[in-house]
Amino acid sequence: MVSRPELSDHRKKTSQEMYRLIEELYPICRSITGNGVRETLKAIGKLVPLDTVEVPSGTPAFDWEVPREWNVKDAYILDPYGKKIVDFKQLNLHLLNYSIPFNGKMPLTELKKHLFTLPDKPDLVPYRTSYYKEAWGFCMTQHQYDSLEEGEYQVVVDSTLEDGHLTYGEYHIPGRREEEFLISTHTCHPSLCNDNLSGIAVATFLAKELAASQPEFSYRFLFIPGTIGSITWLSRNESLLGRIIGGLVITLLGDDSDFTYKTSRQGNSPIDRIARYYLNSQREGHSKIRDFIPYGYDERQYCSPGFNLPVGCLTRNSYGEFPEYHTSADNLQFVKPERLAESLEVIQDLVSILENNHYFINLNPKGEPQLGKRGLYDRLGGGNEGKELQLAILWVLNYSDGDHDLLDVAEKSGIDVGVIIHAARLLREKELIKPS
Ligand code: ZN
Repeated sequence: MVSRPELSDHRKKTSQEMYRLIEELYPICRSITGNGVRETLKAIGKLVPLDTVEVPSGTPAFDWEVPREWNVKDAYILDPYGKKIVDFKQLNLHLLNYSIPFNGKMPLTELKKHLFTLPDKPDLVPYRTSYYKEAWGFCMTQHQYDSLEEGEYQVVVDSTLEDGHLTYGEYHIPGRREEEFLISTHTCHPSLCNDNLSGIAVATFLAKELAASQPEFSYRFLFIPGTIGSITWLSRNESLLGRIIGGLVITLLGDDSDFTYKTSRQGNSPIDRIARYYLNSQREGHSKIRDFIPYGYDERQYCSPGFNLPVGCLTRNSYGEFPEYHTSADNLQFVKPERLAESLEVIQDLVSILENNHYFINLNPKGEPQLGKRGLYDRLGGGNEGKELQLAILWVLNYSDGDHDLLDVAEKSGIDVGVIIHAARLLREKELIKPS
């Protein structure tokens, strides 16, 4: 929609920077708490001025409590010959996330009770967690599992689970208005790229570019662990929730599929209308719009009935619906720089519509104003582009009645919202309309 002539070079550079951030973060073992999260926030903090917040274990958050902090030094399994067959340091997905410390020997039958595989995807290592039930375990390919010989195995989980903190990152970009738009992405997955490093990379660069643009609205970026992170943040920030005019939970933004927008629970809030309009008009036939369901990412918390915030969720592929989801195949090859750049651009377009979508009042509503004497008629003549803008001017004038915003005008007229916004800008300059 909004054309950006300088985009190609800039977009290329940004796509590479986003991918580089993913490469840097990929090896780090993240979880809902722990040093991996801190290290991740530190890397983001080199790109945007992030506030890092530490919430002590045991802090109540509505019906929840901030859990103990989990950290891992090492974890592996030695086979009966003393050979290391599974190594956390090679791939952190091998360790059941939040495994309690353990050191001991056991026969294969006993070990198997602690092993997780994907029988229908025998080459892939699954991603598994056990945050709220004390357990230890390892994840491996089904092929490896099938090749294990009888005998005694040595298991080492050199982890700690003790009182500490839950760590999240927050970046507030003040706009000309106090009303805020929320962008939230989770930071709790270890070596998985699309879910969730793509969200982290796109959010970081969106924040960087928004901060440089002197936006109309204020923007708040949250880099938080899934579920407990958003619940904790909500419990500490109830007083500012009234300012939130919209928001997006973003993740799964680096794969090849087209976009999916899941509406907020409200269903028809400004961001719902904008995303629906944008995807239907710009990516017709490819993108998907889904109604809110109380399942998925942190929109579940923002849209819980006690808050009912107008927060939707933008992804490419959907939660749980692609074979690489929550497996070792969600790796650096699965996400692509150009897809990240395209995702960033789509969110920037949504934000641009949000920033410009106002209600106006026609200051000369009795008959059409004479456009020619204001230079809004003859200068437009000629080509198709001029003709569209001319039409857009008439549409905006007619529907500047305080009841229709520019998105309504775009929908009614079938004219691209970018052209409608341009027309409104010209009419405002000539003092033919004013914001209502
Ligand atoms: Zn996930």
